[in-house]
This record gives sequence, structure tokens and C-alpha cells, in this order.
Amino acid sequence: MPKPAKSMLSAETPATGRLHAPYARADIEALVARHGSPLMVVDCDRIRGQYRALKAALPGVDLHYALKPLPDPVVVATLKGEGAFFDLASSGEVDLVRAAQVAPERCIHTHPIKRDGDIRDALRFGVRIFVADNADEIGKFIRHRKRVEVLLRVAFGTSDAVCDLSKKFGCEPAAVPALLRVAAQMGVRVVGLSFHAGSQAASPDMHVRAIAASGGMIEAGRAAGHADLAVLDIGGGFPVDYLEPAMPIEEFCAPIRAALAALPPNLRIIAEPGRFIAAPAGTCVSTVIGRAVRDGRQWYYLDDGIYGSFSGQLFDHARYRIESLRTDGERRPSVLAGPTCDSIDVVIEDLPLPPLEIGDLIVGRDMGAYCSAGATDFNFIRRARVLPINREPADATVVTLVPR
Ligand SMILES: *Cc1c(COP(=O)(O)O)cnc(C)c1O
Repeated sequence: MPKPAKSMLSAETPATGRLHAPYARADIEALVARHGSPLMVVDCDRIRGQYRALKAALPGVDLHYALKPLPDPVVVATLKGEGAFFDLASSGEVDLVRAAQVAPERCIHTHPIKRDGDIRDALRFGVRIFVADNADEIGKFIRHRKRVEVLLRVAFGTSDAVCDLSKKFGCEPAAVPALLRVAAQMGVRVVGLSFHAGSQAASPDMHVRAIAASGGMIEAGRAAGHADLAVLDIGGGFPVDYLEPAMPIEEFCAPIRAALAALPPNLRIIAEPGRFIAAPAGTCVSTVIGRAVRDGRQWYYLDDGIYGSFSGQLFDHARYRIESLRTDGERRPSVLAGPTCDSIDVVIEDLPLPPLEIGDLIVGRDMGAYCSAGATDFNFIRRARVLPINREPADATVVTLVPR
């Protein structure tokens, strides 16, 4: 079993006590004075609030937090405290939930393509439910078949989501009956279907279509003798506000609830929200470390950039709400650039900003998902520190792990 690389207590709640977003300028300055810059401030109250909002919008659906957008031990501990379930895709993520003492029965492993080592790591922890989308992958479970239950991941074509997750993974709907037969011949138990409608979905249309189609496939599968079909996993995709606002979650989920109500009986429904829980909880704080005027334009250089927290602009195609804490003075279109020597490391080219001083702070809102998770240490510049605030005392001790 891998050992934690190092053990430490994460930062405690700052002296200012509980902070409520959008934080006051003095609060953010106090955090930086105490913990340094750059920071990714993660508000555990907001993690809890998002979890509860989605739970209320999807009653009866087990919410498995997908660790990928913000694989942080404090987030895991916070959600564990809410009674959440978890969605894992790597052995490092298995380590994270194990260190947080999450019960393995509350976890599923949803990576469709796995090495035997990945399967064994998850099994050793106690995970039982895995995902596969082709005969090779089902075959990898033959040797583990007594202990494993499989969900078949189905791809339902392109969606209106910002990130399509049906191109790389998922079998065609028409392939499901044959895969159910293949699995039965191999002695591997298929207990249900899963899909991912794409991340940051613009509308619930894809979820609704996929739920209805999955219901039909489950009914047909049961009729063909696959009596184990008892789970439908409706994936993630639940959207959040960035520069463009998203559909409110209650409105987004209303048609999904209606589609779920029309499913065949005796189905456990699960979802795998990642972004919706993590994004609004994260506030990126960086510092102006240099200035220049180039071609008549004002440039500000920050200690965080495209290779750091703003990697989400590349990998996740997101556009964040960015502002300076200083608000006095006439605004001019300004360039914000990151700290590396690479010329692509430009965060934004035309942000109206007042005249800034070296040491001034820049804040990015709703940056909890797919930002610090995609950050690198390029140029050997350390990525932003994840600083959890508003933790519950019960989550006090958190083990820090490195990925593997
Ligand atoms: C990334 C991912 C998620 C989370 O998706 P969001 O759109 O962030 O909610 C859930 N399930 C799987 C299999 C994923 O790959």
C-alpha cells in the first residue's frame, strides 16, 4: 500500500473567522499576508452548499463526487461529512479517499480503460463497481469476477456541453445487447449502464434523452434475461456560472427528474457531479509581480497563469470572472500575463483595470474546478497553494498525498 508522501495539517481557518464569498478585500489581503501568494481559496461552506443544492434538485439520486476537478483531501473530508459518495478514476484518487477514511462501499471506479494494477488497487481498497465500454475491458474482470460489478458506459452522441465526453469513451447504444451477452459468457456481472452527457452542459436535453434511451435498454436487457441490471449512472455535466451564467440547477434538473420518474422500477440512480460541487467554491488569488507598457498597452505580470490555475482556460475552455481588488482610478484595457517565460502564458488581453501597483491582488471567481487540478510547475514555478477555509472542526486532520 502506498504511503502518504508527507503528512501535515492543512492550513487552519484564518484569524478572521468564517469568511463569506465574495470575500471582502481585507479578508483576501489577510489570507495572502498569512499564507502567501498565489492561492486557491476553497470554501468548504460552498462545497457543502453546492452538494446540498444538487441533492435537493435530484432527490433519491446518490451523488458520487467525481474527484477529478478538485482532488483535494479537505474537499473529500467535507463531502464525506455530508454523506456523499465518490467517483474515482485512478489509483491516486483511491489513495485520497482511503486516507480520508471513506467507506469503500461509497465509491465507484469509473475509468473505462484500466490496467490490471488500477483494478487491483481499487479492489484492494474495497471498491466493487467498475465501468467498462468494450469486450476487452469486460475481459479484464474475468479474473476478478467474483468481486466485481460492472456498469456499461454508453455514448449518446454529441451534446451541447462545453466538453464532449462521449468521443473518447462509451459504446454505441446499438452495441449494448451484444456486450451484455459477451459479459454473461465471461461470467462478469453487468449491473447497469452509465453515461456522461458532457461537462458544463448548456441544457439538460442530453441527460433527458440519455436517461430515456438507457431506460429502454435496461428494460430490453432485463427482458433478454440480464436480471442483474439495477443501476443507472447519469454522470456529471451539471453547469455553473462563469462569465456566461448557466441555467439554475433547479431548472436544469426539473426535466431530469421527470425523465427519471419514467424509468423502469427497481433502479438505483447515481450521478457523478464534479464541476458543480467544486467550481463555485474556488477563488483564485494572485499578485501583480511586474508591470510593463508594450505597444501602448499596459501589461501586468502575475504569480499565477496559464501553466497554473488558469490552465482551465486551455484544458476546460472556461472563461473566468477576473477582477482586481483595487477599484479606484480610471480603467484601461490591460493585459494580465502569467509568471513563466512562455509567450502563451497570457491570461487575458483586454481586461478593463484601474492602474495597478506591484503587490496588488487579482481575484478569479468560480475557479474551483479544473483549475488547480490542471496546473503544472512549468519553469519550476510552484503552483498555487490550495487553502481550504470554513472547515468543520470534525474534518481537522487531513493527510496530504501526491498523485501516483
Ligand atoms: C469528469 C467526469 C465527471 C465529472 O464531470 P463534471 O462535468 O465535472 O460534473 C464525472 N464522471 C466521469 C466519468 C468523468 O470523467
